[in-house]
Amino acid sequence: MSSQPMSSSPCPEAVPLNRRAVALISGGLDSALAIYLVKRQGIDITALHFPSFFAPLDLEDEGAPVRVLARQLDVPLVLIPKGMEFLEVIRNPRYGHGKNINPCIDCRIDSFVRAKAFMEEIGASFLVTGEVSGQRPMSQRRDAMRLIDKRSGCEGLVLRPLSAKVLPLTRPETEGIVDRDRLLDIAGRGRKVQLKLAQEIGLTGFSAPAGGCLLTDPGFARRLRDLLTDKQDVNTADLELLSIGRHIRVRPGLKLVVSRTEIENGRIEEIAPAETVFFPMDFPGPTVVVLGVPTAEEETLVAGIVRRYSKESRRGEAIRIRDGQGSTRVLSVNNVAQDDWIAAHIL
Ligand code: SF4
Repeated sequence: MSSQPMSSSPCPEAVPLNRRAVALISGGLDSALAIYLVKRQGIDITALHFPSFFAPLDLEDEGAPVRVLARQLDVPLVLIPKGMEFLEVIRNPRYGHGKNINPCIDCRIDSFVRAKAFMEEIGASFLVTGEVSGQRPMSQRRDAMRLIDKRSGCEGLVLRPLSAKVLPLTRPETEGIVDRDRLLDIAGRGRKVQLKLAQEIGLTGFSAPAGGCLLTDPGFARRLRDLLTDKQDVNTADLELLSIGRHIRVRPGLKLVVSRTEIENGRIEEIAPAETVFFPMDFPGPTVVVLGVPTAEEETLVAGIVRRYSKESRRGEAIRIRDGQGSTRVLSVNNVAQDDWIAAHIL
């Protein structure tokens, strides 16, 4: 079954709009400028951001771009995390994936559905986004925008101030809530107009365009695809580990995560369940997470991988390994894992 999110209640066409709006804020320049363009018309804006595993925001960090921009624009900021349920959108997007594992159209529909529910909760009547017509191949084509608005139950209620003059009229414009003449007509991938406006109004601290979504990163996408194929009940540790170390898929049901640095050793110990974490006791070497239950033969493979990524690489010696719970084991090393085997199994 498709994971396509359902829209909430249909938009109340008969009820006139008010001067309160919810604006999606990403931390990039475009959504901040969209807020500026609408706020300067006297609209009461609440900025809404969706942190997720795939575009993480340190919620405590006052220097995070969304926080910096919300402060500069003087708008309240609300964070609604996209939780594990968002994985279903990634696994099974009705409108497919982009170049990597990014389900952009379904992701936007999901965001708009959530934003609409939030709008209703706070009594706002329309939505503002920083989307620019034709800027992104998947979700910012005009037909895709129309589809996203319709599927989310937000038809006519999504104002895109940066491109408003090249897009069909929306209800905030036709009802005289915002003045279309004071909105912009940007289309395409250029950034000149936005950067000039940012300079004029002194906006700083925004993140790079399209940066930050791990779902568009080829390496991350490969690991996530492997995880979603291999495991149904994915947990937060599985997701956090995707950004750390070397990932080696031994077989379905058995994966190794091998740290590359001291810092990663520490991160792995924080994130992974203690009973899955192994490290060599008698020489410096990588911390390894063993996800799955290895056979005796596979245990020697784990030992060979520890040897491969350690300064020590003598063959034929047993190594002592301790797991994160303090149990010690001796694993024999028949062969140090060979580069061609690793190349065939690394994610
Ligand atoms: S780039 Fe990532 S966050 Fe943005 S719409 Fe696509 S999937 Fe969603």
